[in-house]
Amino acid sequence: MKIIITITLSFLLASLAYVKKALTPWALIVAFLFSCLITYLGGISCFLMLATVFLLTLIAGKIKTKERNAKIKSLHSKGSQKNLASIIANVAPGAGCLIIYKLTQNNLFLVVYASLMAEAISDSLASDIGILSSKKPLNILTLKRSTPGLSGNISLLGVIASFFGSLIIALIYYIFNLNFPYFLIITFCGTLGNFIDSFLGALLQVKYECPKCHIITEKEEHCNCKTNLVQGLKIFNNDVVNITSNIITGFICYLLII
Ligand SMILES: [Zn+2]
Repeated sequence: MKIIITITLSFLLASLAYVKKALTPWALIVAFLFSCLITYLGGISCFLMLATVFLLTLIAGKIKTKERNAKIKSLHSKGSQKNLASIIANVAPGAGCLIIYKLTQNNLFLVVYASLMAEAISDSLASDIGILSSKKPLNILTLKRSTPGLSGNISLLGVIASFFGSLIIALIYYIFNLNFPYFLIITFCGTLGNFIDSFLGALLQVKYECPKCHIITEKEEHCNCKTNLVQGLKIFNNDVVNITSNIITGFICYLLII
């Protein structure tokens, strides 16, 4: 019975992703497998957290304004479809956490899983909603105004969105487990995780300058010419930053609850 429910729920989620063209084909297959693993090991509550992260990311990504589209187009190396690396970066640490939960039968790992999901949604809401902010964002390291859409930026609107994202995941945990201290820790860790992500993004993530228009971008090409590396390490793209901040957030959460 459990396996039928697991496959049905994951199939529904994957179908939605397929219809909405949210994922590339390989990402879709791997996301379906991760969803099966997460639901089978963690149960309905873990599935609901995953589905919420997915749905909110989908909705936030659809908020379209002319300005936002222009900003994103010139800055990011990826299109709107999430690829395989992005799915692995966001879901693998959580799935790993549930494998440890199953092996150790230690309920604390469910709290860590929830914190990781909270961080995932915090991160996407902070960037997708934060970019709508009318004020220019600040670079988290220099605290100077920065080009909207770049990694390492923070804005008040983004921080508020990230807090509410974490709160929703924490609420799902609370409904199933009725533990208020853990509810607070999940909200805190999710929001903190977003700051860690911005911090790592500002510190390490690769940035290029266009030789023609001098815009700072994450693209390797701009205005039809090759951009110059101005900061960061080439291997630290958005996915590597995501998975690193996920792992750090997971450790912080674990240290807070043991
Ligand atoms: Zn340019």
